[in-house]
Amino acid sequence: MKIHEFQAKAILGAYGVLVPKGEVVTTPVEARRAAERLGGTVVLKVQIHAGGRGKGGGVVLVSSPQEAEAATKRLIGSRLITHQTGPEGRVVKKVLVEERVTISRELYAGIVLDHRVARPVIMTSAAGGVEIEEAAAKDPERITGVAVDPATQLQPFHVRRLVLGLALPQPVQRAVASLFPALYRVFQEKDCSLVEINPLVVTAEGRLLALDAKLNIDDNALFRHPDLEALRDPDEELPLEVEASRFGLSYIKLNGAVGCMVNGAGLAMATMDLVKLVGGEPANFLDVGGGASAEQIEHAFRILISDRSVSVVLINIFGGILRCDRLAEGMIRAVRSLRVASPIIVRMEGTNVDQGKRMLTESGINFITADGMQDAAEKAVRAAKRNGVNSDQRGL
Ligand code: GDP
Ligand code: MN
Repeated sequence: MKIHEFQAKAILGAYGVLVPKGEVVTTPVEARRAAERLGGTVVLKVQIHAGGRGKGGGVVLVSSPQEAEAATKRLIGSRLITHQTGPEGRVVKKVLVEERVTISRELYAGIVLDHRVARPVIMTSAAGGVEIEEAAAKDPERITGVAVDPATQLQPFHVRRLVLGLALPQPVQRAVASLFPALYRVFQEKDCSLVEINPLVVTAEGRLLALDAKLNIDDNALFRHPDLEALRDPDEELPLEVEASRFGLSYIKLNGAVGCMVNGAGLAMATMDLVKLVGGEPANFLDVGGGASAEQIEHAFRILISDRSVSVVLINIFGGILRCDRLAEGMIRAVRSLRVASPIIVRMEGTNVDQGKRMLTESGINFITADGMQDAAEKAVRAAKRNGVNSDQRGL
């Protein structure tokens, strides 16, 4: 889960990381008042779940409360496009008004989970700011990285290696050295998949400040962080993805026409591969999980077909804990109550498969059954091609 910069800064601040003073606003008048309280010379930063705001025009320096008001008027409600938002951009609803600082140096500091070494890796670079991706691609030696063994935790030698890589004056070195343990604690205690400060700045007065902050939380750990879950901003997420997560379903929207309902992430991957292999495009990744109930199947179906680009539904389920008869029950109920008109291709195997198939046949609904995954994918793609142009017939 992503959170906003101002939320990330509040968390970092609680761990002793210095951040600029600021206030979040949603109206131009609030922006003016906030700017008055912050001394007039401020920076306005749109709060969207995407980076690259600086280059995209989402970071505006102003010199008076009046300017802050005028600029916020332009920003709120506008659609900001950055290299991370995609061409559709994001509608701006919140603006962070912050005291403006004079930057002397822009550094980079981040922690990610590196799957290759199976450890958190802390990274720093003296080439911080908006060009870090470029620096990483062109000059990887300008980035210092240390992997931390979670059994022995962050050690002073890790910190020394990180700090020395930055070539900073003495007093700033000390401030940076105390930053890493704080960042590492945030990463661990908040179950982050990413902590990133870019830029980490040294101000003209020699202060070290986190000027930007990005914090991603591992979704699988959210159950033990209700306080973080509360930071979720539904405005920044696709409505269907939000809806799916409410029912414990993993749903990710993709761009094709074949809606896939699958149990287990591995089977979902394999199904998407097969759909592509036989010339189609999956419309989504929908994993109902190992132990789905008939109700979850019904919700999954509803979510699947409310995506207008889905013209055919491909169901590929291996019935283990989720028995095939329960799956059939959920499907029949969903198709009846939602009056689904798109073709539905079903491939199922496993526990109570014969009973499940019998229920599908006796339901009187025209399910297209398939023998094996390949056959299912071929039938789905063929149906999608036939059905693609008039997908409105699903009767919603
Ligand atoms: P991002 O582009 O979405 O990553 O947004 P950032 O928060 O990193 O801001 C982008 C750039 O705006 C930074 O790299 C700075 O150069 C500039 N910026 C942000 N805040 C200030 C500020 O208080 N003073 C000055 N001079 N520049 C700032
Ligand atoms: Mn940034």
